Amino acid sequence: MIEIAIDGTAASGKGTLAKKLAKKYGFIHLDTGLLYRKVANELIIKKKDNSTNLEYYSFEVAKNLNFLKLKKEDLRSEKTAKLASLIATYPKLREVLNSIQKEFVNNNKSKFPGCVLDGRDIGTKILPNANFKFFIDASIDIRAKRRLLEKNISFLHENDEKCMLQSLIREMKERDMLDSSRTTSPLVPASDAHLIDTSYMNADELLLKVTKIIEGN
Ligand code: C5P
Repeated sequence: MIEIAIDGTAASGKGTLAKKLAKKYGFIHLDTGLLYRKVANELIIKKKDNSTNLEYYSFEVAKNLNFLKLKKEDLRSEKTAKLASLIATYPKLREVLNSIQKEFVNNNKSKFPGCVLDGRDIGTKILPNANFKFFIDASIDIRAKRRLLEKNISFLHENDEKCMLQSLIREMKERDMLDSSRTTSPLVPASDAHLIDTSYMNADELLLKVTKIIEGN
């Protein structure tokens, strides 16, 4: 099975790239951030998000995670993302989610010619021997603008838009910092990853660049 590992910062374009690559090559795709978001969301629903035992509860939720029931639309809020990033610092939780990811790849080996996983530690931890590794990043201003556009809020007053953008920049910077500085599986490029800055590149241009690398053109 051909393995493609994609890591990078939030709103860098890694998720869209992963989806497009999987579609193009008929590979199976897993957005691993959804696992962390799902655990965070369950903690919020169970009102355990402010618990002093957050580490214990997140581990319990992860052990019983119904992976097939991941519903993306419930999981996209910045509140969920922030909590996901916090619990992602817990080594025991990561162990459970790492096993789920590895099992996912193993279970699909005979069904698909390849897999694409995107996240923060795919090239360094989950698929260390991946055939292709990419690390995607873009400037914080551009990533925050992309997130704002994704929210699809129309009729925003110019000042409100500036305000939302500033708070997104703040939240994303905090999350980048937490993800890159944690002890277990921090967000760092694998030594053999292709580094791509998408600040001035759209999704199709990124796909083209990456497929050229994969196909050796
Ligand atoms: O990719 P996404 O923004 O949905 O991920 C949410 C959070 O989950 C990240 O900020 C990160 O802390 C955590 N995560 C991780 N390892 C992964 C995927 C996500 O630590 N492989």
